[in-house]
Amino acid sequence: MLKNNKIVLFDIDHTIFDTDKYLKILNEKLSKELGYDGDEFIEKFKQIYVKIKKDSPYVMPEDLLEEILKHKKSKTNLKKLKEIFWEKKLYESCIYPDVDKAFSYLSDNDIKIGIFSTGTTKHQRIKIQSLKEYLSEKNIFISSQKIKIVKDTLHGYKDYFTYLIDDLPVVLHEAKKIDPNTFTIFIKRREPSATVVFPKDFIPDKVIENLDELIDIIKPIN
Ligand SMILES: [Mg+2]
Repeated sequence: MLKNNKIVLFDIDHTIFDTDKYLKILNEKLSKELGYDGDEFIEKFKQIYVKIKKDSPYVMPEDLLEEILKHKKSKTNLKKLKEIFWEKKLYESCIYPDVDKAFSYLSDNDIKIGIFSTGTTKHQRIKIQSLKEYLSEKNIFISSQKIKIVKDTLHGYKDYFTYLIDDLPVVLHEAKKIDPNTFTIFIKRREPSATVVFPKDFIPDKVIENLDELIDIIKPIN
């Protein structure tokens, strides 16, 4: 069957959202509020972040802020930390600069844009808030463990030609196993790390470093 409808499912962190930049800015803002100078709080912040992430695939904002507050040197309080944490502009500034062009292209060419992400709903949603003009509710999937909803998500697009873009090869591999017609794209936004592991015998259909390359991939199939 020739599938005329197309959808591109995007991961959020390290795919369309610069999580490293975000953590750096967040750390700076929180440190200042907590009464620290310069880089004084960086290591502590990292330790707290890693500790909270250890038992979960993502960080719970409430846990992070409560833990951080224990180290305050100023008179700040949880309410003030929350205001910093949930500031919309912070999130908007961390969308990778190539996202808008790619989303515009897809949108102009009637290719659907979906979100397929791990995390807490509220936190992931504020990350993509500035992109909402491109997104339709029914194409947004945020789960505490998205690997478990790959099958159901792909099934919902069985009449579509589906592209999946992620910085984690395990997600792409899972999708390929479930539906070999899924076009898997690995996005390499950062240097290889312990979290980015290629499963044995898995090669994604494409490897890209930014979303300008995505446009070139999608064009010839049009
Ligand atoms: Mg990611």
